Amino acid sequence: MSKIITEIMKFLQEDKITDVCFEGANIVLYTKDTDFFLNDQGVIKQIVSDIKKRVELRPDPSITMESEAAEKIIRQVIPEEATIANITFDPQRSRVIIEAEKPGLAIGKQGELLREIKAKTTWVPIVKRTPVIRSQLIENIRAVLYQNSDYRRKFLNKTGHRVYDGWIRGKKNEWVRLTYLGSGRQVGRSCMLLQTPESRILLDCGIDPAHTMDETEAFPYLEAPEFKVDELDAVIVSHAHLDHCGLIPYLFKFGYKGPIYCTAPTRDVMALLQLDFVKIMKNAGKDPLYTSDEIREMVKHTICLNFEEVTDITPDVRITFYNSGHIIGSAMVHLHIGNGLHNLLYGADMKYGRTKLLDPAITDFPRLESLMLESTYGGKDNITQSREESEKQLVDAVNATLANKGKVIIPVLGVGRSQEIMLILEEHMRTGAMEKIPVFIDGMVWDVTAIHTAYPEFLNNQIRKQIFHKNQNPFLSDIFKRVGSPKERREVIEEAGSCVIVATSGMLVGGASVQYFKELCDNPHNCIIFVSYQGEGSLGRRVQRGEKEIINPDSPKDVLRVKMQVATVEGLSGHSGRRELMNFVYRCTPRPKKIIVNHGEVSRCLDLASSIHKMYRIETAAPRNLETIRLV
Ligand SMILES: [Zn+2]
Repeated sequence: MSKIITEIMKFLQEDKITDVCFEGANIVLYTKDTDFFLNDQGVIKQIVSDIKKRVELRPDPSITMESEAAEKIIRQVIPEEATIANITFDPQRSRVIIEAEKPGLAIGKQGELLREIKAKTTWVPIVKRTPVIRSQLIENIRAVLYQNSDYRRKFLNKTGHRVYDGWIRGKKNEWVRLTYLGSGRQVGRSCMLLQTPESRILLDCGIDPAHTMDETEAFPYLEAPEFKVDELDAVIVSHAHLDHCGLIPYLFKFGYKGPIYCTAPTRDVMALLQLDFVKIMKNAGKDPLYTSDEIREMVKHTICLNFEEVTDITPDVRITFYNSGHIIGSAMVHLHIGNGLHNLLYGADMKYGRTKLLDPAITDFPRLESLMLESTYGGKDNITQSREESEKQLVDAVNATLANKGKVIIPVLGVGRSQEIMLILEEHMRTGAMEKIPVFIDGMVWDVTAIHTAYPEFLNNQIRKQIFHKNQNPFLSDIFKRVGSPKERREVIEEAGSCVIVATSGMLVGGASVQYFKELCDNPHNCIIFVSYQGEGSLGRRVQRGEKEIINPDSPKDVLRVKMQVATVEGLSGHSGRRELMNFVYRCTPRPKKIIVNHGEVSRCLDLASSIHKMYRIETAAPRNLETIRLV
């Protein structure tokens, strides 16, 4: 038995507890004593405050009420306005998951309805929000978790044993090493291996989307001698962009069976993007790197954490996620290593500035010695205009096109910028600064938006307030119309009058945006607005540069004559610009002793590292791939 359980049992009468289980780092006690389950006299609270771990008391499955009867009671107790969509029983864990449109009403004042359900049914009720936009993907993910609840229970228990059963690798010396398997002096294929005497932890495992056809450039250096998939204790995913999570399912293909830690929106969005990635590979006639089977394995092994929830993941590493302001659910990862030996913050991709969607990245941490900082826009010349100016530029460009009765195409990445653009358009149309016209949302952008509506607690205050208090979810505005089929796309192109079209891909490389562009480019009344980085060689870059005759990428005999207006709006990025990065370092409390600059082109990494050193007298490094930095 783990030491921690022996310690917990000292607080309890042994005959009251029938089973003790781990669920990751959480400790779950089961009891057959109904009275004790309903009123433990504060014992559990006492244990939590003494041992500083999350401990939960649940009824032994044998004393829970028969599920049909329990469901009847739940439906009686919860008011109709809460609108229950689903009730699912998880008998092995004595939990019942209630999906409701208004979770607050289902929970009741200070949880009184949950207490009532507990008392009347002896089940542990858990309330989840039904996404207000239906999402097949979220339903599938929840189904995978419910269908595999037996496996989940064993997996979570095993994960807990790894955390609590003591050291397995021997602790002779104190050292911490960080090896770059990707994203050293480059954007793309983020992947770092953190090693301590006891732990092997992978931070992200992405691909380089610009090189998906060439494995040596696209994959992180998983062949590095220090990386052994069967020795990995945990994988942490900072956020759902493919350059950070695109290869996670691949690890399962190679036998990884351990936990993936991320936030809940990250899990959902990354599964969506990976499924799309598999589809794109198949359409291009390539063998996909993995299939939906491995994506399902990933979902089964994911442990979701909320922001600022402290969790042990191995005997000597404890992690906490902090909002990074980049996309929904994106996290900076704080790693507390060796019981105070070292504190490392993996900043991942972050935005130290307010956006329509998210709060700025957090800068206050309990302790901090080393910081890994991105440098996507870290160069001296990456001074972007203010958010307000950028928004005005976008609104002006749209208004000018509407005055000519034209159509606007905005090519976007599926996640982040697209929702940001939607919010800007919605606000201006709501307040009358822009004529109210349909905004067509094509393809995956719609699914990602649906995930946003499922997790309003991950959005910023303002949006949350709009959603909760005013019942005014901006994503549900009637200006937004979904384009779900080729037929509907045709209608938008041929029949819809003046409108805005938001579609992937962002660089006009594959996806619906290319089709819209091809059909609408020869009309001078139409306009294309670029809001994100256009990679060298992409169709988007050529249009942006002002080329007027471009060979049709899908039919080399045709020449596309570009007569439409072309506009570029900068400064709507989900990354910090140079000034924000420098401010972030300045505001970081406590001030880190060492800053490791990554995730940027060579010159930008070097430039940012040298500027931080000159300005703040902090030691910096800009490692290349395969380099290892010793932190302790
Ligand atoms: Zn990103």
